[in-house]
Amino acid sequence: MQHDNPNFDEFDHIHLWHPYTSTHNPLPTYKVDHAEGAVITLADGTELIDGMSSWWCVIHGYNNPTLNEAARQQLDKMSHIMFGGLTHEPAIELGRMLLKVLPPSMQHIFYADSGSVATEVALKMAVQAQNNPRRTNFATIRRGYHGDTWNAMSVCDPVTGMHSAFGPALPVRFFADEPRCTFDSEWEPSDFESMRRLLEENAETLAGVILEPVVQGAGGMRFYHPQYLRELRTLCDKLGILLIFDEIATGFGRTGRLFAWEHAGVEPDIMLIGKAITGGYMTFAAVATTAKVADMIANSDAHVMMHGPTFMANPLACAVGLASLRLLLSQPWQKRVAEIEAIMRRRLKPAASWPFVHDVRVLGAIGVVELDHDVDLAEFQRLCVREGVWIRPFGRNAYIMPPFLAVSDSQVERLCDALLSIIAETNGISYTPDA
Ligand SMILES: *Cc1c(COP(=O)(O)O)cnc(C)c1O
Repeated sequence: MQHDNPNFDEFDHIHLWHPYTSTHNPLPTYKVDHAEGAVITLADGTELIDGMSSWWCVIHGYNNPTLNEAARQQLDKMSHIMFGGLTHEPAIELGRMLLKVLPPSMQHIFYADSGSVATEVALKMAVQAQNNPRRTNFATIRRGYHGDTWNAMSVCDPVTGMHSAFGPALPVRFFADEPRCTFDSEWEPSDFESMRRLLEENAETLAGVILEPVVQGAGGMRFYHPQYLRELRTLCDKLGILLIFDEIATGFGRTGRLFAWEHAGVEPDIMLIGKAITGGYMTFAAVATTAKVADMIANSDAHVMMHGPTFMANPLACAVGLASLRLLLSQPWQKRVAEIEAIMRRRLKPAASWPFVHDVRVLGAIGVVELDHDVDLAEFQRLCVREGVWIRPFGRNAYIMPPFLAVSDSQVERLCDALLSIIAETNGISYTPDA
Protein backbone atom coordinates (compact mmCIF):
# COMPACT_ATOMS: atom_id res chain seq x y z
CA MET A 1 0.00 0.00 0.00
CA GLN A 2 2.86 2.41 0.73
CA HIS A 3 4.85 1.86 -2.48
CA ASP A 4 2.50 4.16 -4.44
CA ASN A 5 2.45 6.83 -1.71
CA PRO A 6 5.12 9.45 -2.42
CA ASN A 7 4.37 11.09 0.93
CA PHE A 8 5.34 8.01 2.92
CA ASP A 9 7.87 8.42 5.76
CA GLU A 10 9.66 5.34 6.96
CA PHE A 11 10.58 6.63 10.44
CA ASP A 12 6.96 7.59 11.04
CA HIS A 13 5.81 4.20 9.78
CA ILE A 14 8.13 2.27 12.10
CA HIS A 15 8.28 4.41 15.24
CA LEU A 16 5.24 6.68 15.63
CA TRP A 17 1.82 5.69 16.80
CA HIS A 18 -1.07 7.49 15.10
CA PRO A 19 -4.61 7.57 16.57
CA TYR A 20 -5.97 4.06 17.10
CA THR A 21 -3.27 2.22 15.16
CA SER A 22 -1.01 -0.79 15.61
CA THR A 23 2.77 -0.76 15.22
CA HIS A 24 2.27 -3.83 13.03
CA ASN A 25 1.38 -2.84 9.50
CA PRO A 26 -0.25 0.47 10.52
CA LEU A 27 -2.65 2.31 8.22
CA PRO A 28 -0.85 4.50 5.69
CA THR A 29 -0.09 8.12 6.57
CA TYR A 30 0.57 11.06 4.27
CA LYS A 31 3.18 13.65 5.15
CA VAL A 32 1.90 17.24 5.16
CA ASP A 33 4.24 20.10 4.32
CA HIS A 34 1.93 23.04 5.01
CA ALA A 35 -1.71 24.13 5.00
CA GLU A 36 -3.37 27.40 4.07
CA GLY A 37 -7.07 28.34 4.19
CA ALA A 38 -8.96 25.15 3.30
CA VAL A 39 -6.07 23.52 1.44
CA ILE A 40 -3.59 20.98 2.82
CA THR A 41 -0.37 20.58 0.83
CA LEU A 42 1.42 17.24 1.05
CA ALA A 43 5.20 16.80 0.99
CA ASP A 44 5.19 16.08 -2.76
CA GLY A 45 3.11 19.17 -3.53
CA THR A 46 -0.27 17.41 -3.86
CA GLU A 47 -3.07 19.73 -2.74
CA LEU A 48 -6.07 18.41 -0.79
CA ILE A 49 -9.25 20.35 0.01
CA ASP A 50 -9.83 19.86 3.73
CA GLY A 51 -13.14 18.21 4.59
CA MET A 52 -12.34 17.47 8.24
CA SER A 53 -11.25 20.74 9.90
CA SER A 54 -8.62 18.55 11.59
CA TRP A 55 -11.38 16.85 13.60
CA TRP A 56 -13.84 19.71 14.01
CA CYS A 57 -11.45 22.40 15.21
CA VAL A 58 -10.03 24.48 12.32
CA ILE A 59 -13.05 26.71 11.68
CA HIS A 60 -11.14 29.68 10.15
CA GLY A 61 -8.87 27.53 7.99
CA TYR A 62 -5.14 27.00 8.33
CA ASN A 63 -2.43 29.64 8.66
CA ASN A 64 -4.94 32.39 9.43
CA PRO A 65 -3.20 35.81 9.54
CA THR A 66 -5.30 37.11 12.46
CA LEU A 67 -4.69 34.05 14.63
CA ASN A 68 -1.02 33.95 13.64
CA GLU A 69 -0.66 37.57 14.74
CA ALA A 70 -2.40 36.91 18.08
CA ALA A 71 -0.04 33.99 18.74
CA ARG A 72 3.03 36.03 17.75
CA GLN A 73 2.10 38.97 19.98
CA GLN A 74 1.50 36.70 22.95
CA LEU A 75 4.71 34.77 22.26
CA ASP A 76 6.69 38.00 22.64
CA LYS A 77 5.12 38.63 26.07
CA MET A 78 5.11 35.10 27.53
CA SER A 79 4.00 31.79 26.10
CA HIS A 80 3.21 30.39 29.52
CA ILE A 81 2.90 31.36 33.14
CA MET A 82 1.53 29.27 35.99
CA PHE A 83 -2.11 29.95 36.89
CA GLY A 84 -1.61 29.14 40.57
CA GLY A 85 -1.55 32.53 42.29
CA LEU A 86 -1.01 34.41 39.01
CA THR A 87 -3.36 35.56 36.28
CA HIS A 88 -3.15 37.34 32.94
CA GLU A 89 -5.05 39.42 30.42
CA PRO A 90 -5.66 36.66 27.81
CA ALA A 91 -7.33 34.40 30.42
CA ILE A 92 -9.45 37.27 31.74
CA GLU A 93 -10.51 38.61 28.34
CA LEU A 94 -11.29 35.16 26.96
CA GLY A 95 -13.35 34.37 30.05
CA ARG A 96 -15.23 37.67 29.77
CA MET A 97 -16.02 36.97 26.14
CA LEU A 98 -17.00 33.33 26.74
CA LEU A 99 -19.51 34.34 29.41
CA LYS A 100 -21.17 36.59 26.82
CA VAL A 101 -21.74 33.71 24.39
CA LEU A 102 -22.31 30.74 26.72
CA PRO A 103 -25.75 30.02 28.22
CA PRO A 104 -26.73 32.98 30.47
CA SER A 105 -26.64 30.90 33.67
CA MET A 106 -22.95 30.02 33.18
CA GLN A 107 -20.90 32.08 35.66
CA HIS A 108 -17.65 30.26 36.37
CA ILE A 109 -14.99 28.88 34.05
CA PHE A 110 -12.34 26.22 34.54
CA TYR A 111 -9.69 26.18 31.78
CA ALA A 112 -8.48 22.68 30.90
CA ASP A 113 -5.83 21.27 28.58
CA SER A 114 -7.94 19.22 26.19
CA GLY A 115 -11.44 17.94 25.63
CA SER A 116 -10.84 14.69 27.46
CA VAL A 117 -9.43 16.53 30.45
CA ALA A 118 -12.46 18.84 30.38
CA THR A 119 -14.67 15.74 30.61
CA GLU A 120 -12.71 14.54 33.63
CA VAL A 121 -13.03 17.98 35.24
CA ALA A 122 -16.78 18.12 34.56
CA LEU A 123 -17.35 14.68 36.11
CA LYS A 124 -15.23 15.65 39.12
CA MET A 125 -17.22 18.90 39.47
CA ALA A 126 -20.48 16.97 39.52
CA VAL A 127 -19.24 14.52 42.17
CA GLN A 128 -17.82 17.31 44.29
CA ALA A 129 -20.99 19.39 43.96
CA GLN A 130 -23.22 16.50 45.06
CA ASN A 131 -20.95 15.96 48.08
CA ASN A 132 -22.71 12.68 48.77
CA PRO A 133 -20.76 9.40 48.86
CA ARG A 134 -23.75 7.57 47.38
CA ARG A 135 -24.23 9.96 44.47
CA THR A 136 -21.06 9.40 42.48
CA ASN A 137 -22.10 7.64 39.29
CA PHE A 138 -23.15 8.90 35.86
CA ALA A 139 -25.73 8.18 33.21
CA THR A 140 -25.44 8.89 29.52
CA ILE A 141 -26.90 7.84 26.18
CA ARG A 142 -25.52 5.19 23.86
CA ARG A 143 -23.55 6.29 20.77
CA GLY A 144 -21.89 9.15 22.63
CA TYR A 145 -18.25 10.20 22.65
CA HIS A 146 -16.56 12.16 25.43
CA GLY A 147 -12.83 11.55 25.01
CA ASP A 148 -10.13 8.97 25.57
CA THR A 149 -9.07 9.37 29.21
CA TRP A 150 -10.28 6.84 31.77
CA ASN A 151 -13.55 8.34 32.95
CA ALA A 152 -14.27 9.88 29.56
CA MET A 153 -13.98 6.40 28.02
CA SER A 154 -16.39 5.02 30.59
CA VAL A 155 -19.19 7.27 29.28
CA CYS A 156 -18.43 6.68 25.58
CA ASP A 157 -20.66 4.29 23.64
CA PRO A 158 -20.12 0.83 25.16
CA VAL A 159 -20.10 -0.82 21.70
CA THR A 160 -18.25 1.58 19.39
CA GLY A 161 -16.20 3.04 22.25
CA MET A 162 -13.20 1.45 23.91
CA HIS A 163 -14.99 -0.65 26.50
CA SER A 164 -14.03 -3.91 24.80
CA ALA A 165 -10.32 -3.09 25.09
CA PHE A 166 -10.51 -2.13 28.78
CA GLY A 167 -13.47 -4.11 30.03
CA PRO A 168 -13.57 -4.44 33.80
CA ALA A 169 -10.91 -1.74 34.25
CA LEU A 170 -13.52 0.93 33.45
CA PRO A 171 -16.03 2.27 35.97
CA VAL A 172 -19.51 0.95 35.16
CA ARG A 173 -21.94 3.66 34.04
CA PHE A 174 -25.65 3.70 33.21
CA PHE A 175 -26.53 3.77 29.50
CA ALA A 176 -29.92 4.80 28.15
CA ASP A 177 -30.86 3.99 24.56
CA GLU A 178 -29.72 6.68 22.14
CA PRO A 179 -32.48 9.04 20.98
CA ARG A 180 -34.05 7.73 17.74
CA CYS A 181 -36.17 10.75 16.88
CA THR A 182 -34.16 12.64 14.29
CA PHE A 183 -33.52 16.37 14.44
CA ASP A 184 -36.28 17.52 12.10
CA SER A 185 -38.82 14.72 12.49
CA GLU A 186 -41.89 14.85 14.73
CA TRP A 187 -41.15 14.36 18.45
CA GLU A 188 -42.11 10.94 19.72
CA PRO A 189 -42.46 10.92 23.55
CA SER A 190 -41.53 7.22 23.77
CA ASP A 191 -38.02 8.24 22.68
CA PHE A 192 -37.33 9.46 26.21
CA GLU A 193 -38.69 6.40 28.05
CA SER A 194 -35.39 4.53 28.32
CA MET A 195 -33.72 7.53 29.96
CA ARG A 196 -36.74 8.24 32.17
CA ARG A 197 -36.73 4.71 33.55
CA LEU A 198 -32.97 4.69 34.03
CA LEU A 199 -32.92 7.97 35.95
CA GLU A 200 -35.98 7.22 38.06
CA GLU A 201 -34.61 3.83 39.08
CA ASN A 202 -31.07 5.00 39.84
CA ALA A 203 -31.39 8.63 40.86
CA GLU A 204 -29.96 8.18 44.35
CA THR A 205 -26.68 6.84 42.92
CA LEU A 206 -26.30 9.48 40.18
CA ALA A 207 -24.22 12.64 40.36
CA GLY A 208 -24.99 13.66 36.80
CA VAL A 209 -26.01 12.90 33.24
CA ILE A 210 -23.51 13.69 30.51
CA LEU A 211 -24.34 13.88 26.80
CA GLU A 212 -23.65 15.75 23.60
CA PRO A 213 -26.62 18.03 22.90
CA VAL A 214 -28.40 17.44 19.54
CA VAL A 215 -25.35 16.18 17.61
CA GLN A 216 -23.59 12.98 18.63
CA GLY A 217 -20.17 13.19 16.99
CA ALA A 218 -17.47 10.54 17.04
CA GLY A 219 -19.86 7.93 18.50
CA GLY A 220 -22.05 7.85 15.40
CA MET A 221 -22.58 11.25 13.71
CA ARG A 222 -26.25 11.32 14.74
CA PHE A 223 -28.60 14.34 14.94
CA TYR A 224 -31.44 13.92 17.44
CA HIS A 225 -34.55 15.83 18.45
CA PRO A 226 -34.03 18.88 20.74
CA GLN A 227 -37.17 17.94 22.71
CA TYR A 228 -35.12 15.12 24.24
CA LEU A 229 -33.03 17.72 26.05
CA ARG A 230 -36.08 19.56 27.37
CA GLU A 231 -37.46 16.33 28.82
CA LEU A 232 -34.06 15.55 30.31
CA ARG A 233 -33.71 18.99 31.89
CA THR A 234 -37.09 18.68 33.61
CA LEU A 235 -36.36 15.20 34.93
CA CYS A 236 -32.84 16.05 36.14
CA ASP A 237 -34.26 19.01 38.08
CA LYS A 238 -36.90 16.79 39.66
CA LEU A 239 -34.38 14.12 40.70
CA GLY A 240 -31.49 16.40 41.75
CA ILE A 241 -29.19 15.13 39.00
CA LEU A 242 -26.74 17.56 37.40
CA LEU A 243 -27.01 17.94 33.63
CA ILE A 244 -23.72 18.12 31.72
CA PHE A 245 -23.61 19.15 28.04
CA ASP A 246 -20.49 18.18 26.15
CA GLU A 247 -20.27 20.83 23.41
CA ILE A 248 -16.64 20.10 22.59
CA ALA A 249 -17.54 19.12 19.02
CA THR A 250 -20.70 21.19 18.53
CA GLY A 251 -19.44 24.53 19.84
CA PHE A 252 -18.51 27.66 17.89
CA GLY A 253 -21.03 27.55 15.06
CA ARG A 254 -20.67 24.08 13.58
CA THR A 255 -24.36 23.12 13.88
CA GLY A 256 -25.71 26.46 12.66
CA ARG A 257 -26.08 27.87 16.19
CA LEU A 258 -23.15 29.16 18.19
CA PHE A 259 -23.71 26.27 20.62
CA ALA A 260 -26.03 23.30 20.17
CA TRP A 261 -28.02 23.87 23.41
CA GLU A 262 -29.61 26.82 21.59
CA HIS A 263 -31.54 24.39 19.37
CA ALA A 264 -33.38 23.20 22.49
CA GLY A 265 -33.31 26.36 24.59
CA VAL A 266 -32.43 24.49 27.78
CA GLU A 267 -29.29 25.24 29.75
CA PRO A 268 -27.07 22.64 31.39
CA ASP A 269 -25.56 22.83 34.88
CA ILE A 270 -22.09 22.18 33.49
CA MET A 271 -20.94 22.77 29.92
CA LEU A 272 -17.78 21.63 28.13
CA ILE A 273 -16.20 23.41 25.20
CA GLY A 274 -12.99 22.59 23.34
CA LYS A 275 -11.86 21.69 19.83
CA ALA A 276 -12.69 24.90 17.85
CA ILE A 277 -12.05 27.09 20.92
CA THR A 278 -8.57 28.01 19.58
CA GLY A 279 -9.62 27.83 15.94
CA GLY A 280 -7.62 24.62 15.79
CA TYR A 281 -4.30 26.23 16.74
CA MET A 282 -3.52 24.32 19.91
CA THR A 283 -5.04 22.02 22.47
CA PHE A 284 -7.34 23.79 24.91
CA ALA A 285 -10.76 23.41 26.51
CA ALA A 286 -12.96 24.91 29.18
CA VAL A 287 -15.62 23.78 31.62
CA ALA A 288 -18.28 26.34 32.50
CA THR A 289 -20.78 26.08 35.29
CA THR A 290 -23.53 27.94 37.11
CA ALA A 291 -23.25 29.91 40.33
CA LYS A 292 -25.35 27.18 41.94
CA VAL A 293 -22.90 24.39 41.10
CA ALA A 294 -19.91 26.54 42.08
CA ASP A 295 -21.63 27.24 45.42
CA MET A 296 -22.31 23.53 45.94
CA ILE A 297 -18.58 22.84 45.47
CA ALA A 298 -17.57 25.71 47.74
CA ASN A 299 -19.91 24.38 50.43
CA SER A 300 -18.77 20.77 50.04
CA ASP A 301 -16.41 19.01 52.46
CA ALA A 302 -13.41 19.70 50.21
CA HIS A 303 -14.47 23.36 49.67
CA VAL A 304 -12.24 23.71 46.60
CA MET A 305 -12.38 22.40 43.05
CA MET A 306 -9.76 19.65 43.13
CA HIS A 307 -8.01 20.07 39.80
CA GLY A 308 -5.13 22.25 38.61
CA PRO A 309 -3.12 21.25 35.56
CA THR A 310 0.37 22.62 34.87
CA PHE A 311 -0.74 24.31 31.67
CA MET A 312 -4.02 25.64 33.03
CA ALA A 313 -5.15 28.80 31.16
CA ASN A 314 -2.06 28.70 28.93
CA PRO A 315 -1.67 32.32 27.74
CA LEU A 316 -0.89 31.37 24.13
CA ALA A 317 -4.04 29.26 23.92
CA CYS A 318 -6.14 31.96 25.63
CA ALA A 319 -4.80 34.69 23.32
CA VAL A 320 -5.48 32.66 20.18
CA GLY A 321 -8.87 31.56 21.57
CA LEU A 322 -9.83 35.18 22.15
CA ALA A 323 -8.73 36.18 18.63
CA SER A 324 -10.59 33.19 17.17
CA LEU A 325 -13.85 34.01 18.95
CA ARG A 326 -13.61 37.69 17.95
CA LEU A 327 -12.91 36.72 14.35
CA LEU A 328 -15.84 34.30 14.30
CA LEU A 329 -18.29 36.84 15.72
CA SER A 330 -17.07 39.58 13.37
CA GLN A 331 -18.34 37.64 10.35
CA PRO A 332 -21.77 36.51 9.13
CA TRP A 333 -20.86 32.96 10.22
CA GLN A 334 -24.46 31.85 10.60
CA LYS A 335 -25.26 32.79 7.01
CA ARG A 336 -22.13 31.01 5.81
CA VAL A 337 -22.97 27.80 7.70
CA ALA A 338 -26.48 27.90 6.23
CA GLU A 339 -25.07 28.30 2.70
CA ILE A 340 -22.72 25.35 3.19
CA GLU A 341 -25.60 23.32 4.63
CA ALA A 342 -27.68 24.03 1.51
CA ILE A 343 -24.86 23.02 -0.84
CA MET A 344 -24.24 19.78 1.06
CA ARG A 345 -27.96 18.91 1.12
CA ARG A 346 -28.15 19.31 -2.66
CA ARG A 347 -24.83 17.73 -3.52
CA LEU A 348 -24.97 14.68 -1.21
CA LYS A 349 -28.60 13.84 -2.01
CA PRO A 350 -27.95 11.48 -4.96
CA ALA A 351 -26.34 8.98 -2.55
CA ALA A 352 -29.60 8.62 -0.59
CA SER A 353 -31.00 6.26 -3.26
CA TRP A 354 -27.94 3.99 -3.48
CA PRO A 355 -28.57 0.47 -2.15
CA PHE A 356 -25.43 0.37 0.06
CA VAL A 357 -26.18 3.77 1.62
CA HIS A 358 -28.13 3.64 4.87
CA ASP A 359 -28.73 7.38 5.32
CA VAL A 360 -27.67 10.82 4.13
CA ARG A 361 -28.04 13.65 6.63
CA VAL A 362 -26.87 17.24 6.91
CA LEU A 363 -26.99 19.69 9.82
CA GLY A 364 -25.12 22.98 9.77
CA ALA A 365 -21.66 22.44 8.32
CA ILE A 366 -21.79 18.67 8.89
CA GLY A 367 -22.68 16.33 6.03
CA VAL A 368 -22.88 12.58 6.66
CA VAL A 369 -23.23 9.62 4.33
CA GLU A 370 -23.84 6.53 6.48
CA LEU A 371 -23.16 3.28 4.62
CA ASP A 372 -24.52 -0.15 5.48
CA HIS A 373 -20.97 -1.48 5.97
CA ASP A 374 -17.64 -0.29 7.39
CA VAL A 375 -15.43 1.77 5.11
CA ASP A 376 -12.04 0.31 4.10
CA LEU A 377 -10.06 3.23 5.49
CA ALA A 378 -6.71 2.65 3.73
CA GLU A 379 -8.38 2.35 0.33
CA PHE A 380 -10.67 5.30 0.99
CA GLN A 381 -7.79 7.58 1.99
CA ARG A 382 -5.77 6.57 -1.07
CA LEU A 383 -8.69 7.56 -3.29
CA CYS A 384 -9.13 10.84 -1.39
CA VAL A 385 -5.54 11.79 -2.13
CA ARG A 386 -6.04 10.84 -5.78
CA GLU A 387 -9.18 13.03 -5.88
CA GLY A 388 -7.49 15.96 -4.12
CA VAL A 389 -9.63 15.98 -0.95
CA TRP A 390 -9.12 15.04 2.69
CA ILE A 391 -12.00 13.08 4.25
CA ARG A 392 -11.54 10.52 7.00
CA PRO A 393 -14.46 8.19 7.67
CA PHE A 394 -14.92 6.07 10.77
CA GLY A 395 -16.87 2.83 10.82
CA ARG A 396 -19.86 3.18 8.48
CA ASN A 397 -19.84 6.98 8.46
CA ALA A 398 -18.17 9.00 5.73
CA TYR A 399 -18.69 12.65 6.50
CA ILE A 400 -17.61 16.16 5.57
CA MET A 401 -16.94 18.87 8.12
CA PRO A 402 -15.07 21.62 6.25
CA PRO A 403 -13.43 24.69 7.82
CA PHE A 404 -16.64 26.68 7.31
CA LEU A 405 -15.11 30.15 7.38
CA ALA A 406 -12.41 29.23 4.85
CA VAL A 407 -14.01 27.00 2.18
CA SER A 408 -15.46 28.43 -1.02
CA ASP A 409 -18.73 27.16 -2.50
CA SER A 410 -16.84 25.33 -5.22
CA GLN A 411 -14.58 23.65 -2.64
CA VAL A 412 -17.64 22.39 -0.75
CA GLU A 413 -19.09 21.07 -4.01
CA ARG A 414 -15.78 19.41 -4.83
CA LEU A 415 -15.72 17.73 -1.39
CA CYS A 416 -19.27 16.40 -1.82
CA ASP A 417 -18.66 15.19 -5.37
CA ALA A 418 -15.39 13.49 -4.43
CA LEU A 419 -17.03 11.81 -1.43
CA LEU A 420 -19.83 10.41 -3.57
CA SER A 421 -17.47 9.37 -6.38
CA ILE A 422 -15.27 7.46 -3.96
CA ILE A 423 -18.24 5.77 -2.29
CA ALA A 424 -19.61 4.85 -5.72
CA GLU A 425 -16.27 3.53 -6.98
CA THR A 426 -15.59 1.42 -3.88
CA ASN A 427 -19.07 -0.09 -4.14
CA GLY A 428 -18.90 -0.92 -7.82
CA ILE A 429 -21.19 1.69 -9.37
CA SER A 430 -20.25 4.70 -11.43
CA TYR A 431 -21.26 8.23 -10.50
CA THR A 432 -20.85 11.43 -12.46
CA PRO A 433 -21.78 14.56 -10.52
CA ASP A 434 -23.76 17.31 -12.28
CA ALA A 435 -21.56 20.05 -13.66
C1 LIG B 1 -13.15 15.31 20.66
C2 LIG B 1 -14.13 15.24 21.73
C3 LIG B 1 -13.74 15.09 23.07
C4 LIG B 1 -12.30 14.89 23.46
O1 LIG B 1 -11.51 15.99 23.17
P1 LIG B 1 -9.90 15.82 23.05
O2 LIG B 1 -9.42 17.23 22.91
O3 LIG B 1 -9.66 14.97 21.83
O4 LIG B 1 -9.43 15.16 24.28
C5 LIG B 1 -14.73 15.06 24.04
N1 LIG B 1 -16.02 15.20 23.72
C6 LIG B 1 -16.44 15.37 22.44
C7 LIG B 1 -17.90 15.53 22.15
C8 LIG B 1 -15.51 15.37 21.41
O5 LIG B 1 -15.93 15.51 20.14
